[in-house]
Amino acid sequence: MSEIAVSPPEALFTLATDRWTAPFWEAARQRRLTACRCGNCGAFRMPPTPFCPECRSQEVEWPDLPGTGTLFSFSVVRRAITPEMEGHLPYVPALVDLDQAPGARLISNVVGCRLGELRIGARLVVGWRERSDGVVLPEFRLGE
Ligand SMILES: [Zn+2]
Repeated sequence: MSEIAVSPPEALFTLATDRWTAPFWEAARQRRLTACRCGNCGAFRMPPTPFCPECRSQEVEWPDLPGTGTLFSFSVVRRAITPEMEGHLPYVPALVDLDQAPGARLISNVVGCRLGELRIGARLVVGWRERSDGVVLPEFRLGE
């Protein structure tokens, strides 16, 4: 497979935040990768939820993370099922285990690599893509 993974079309994702998710997206605007950490027991959880599944606390922290991770799982989307997807293939939805945030697994995309280079366990580095609507999305490239 020599095709290069690209970013998915903007039309597939509309950002809607609430008090639990807004800090993640504000950090993304500043090109900082973060994850929700319980302010009481320190357990990470992504996506952020109102209550810690470990201790039920609603206290949360948003620490800066190094922006690296490991590819836990991925899929390759090769077929346009909507007209908006034409010209944005193939893209690679991925689950990324974030470094320094045990238990935080981010849904994102891997871009800029040949599909044949994708491996479970591959090291990843975050990059940022600013969309036409100003939303800044994390997306990952293969790293060291
Ligand atoms: Zn907790």
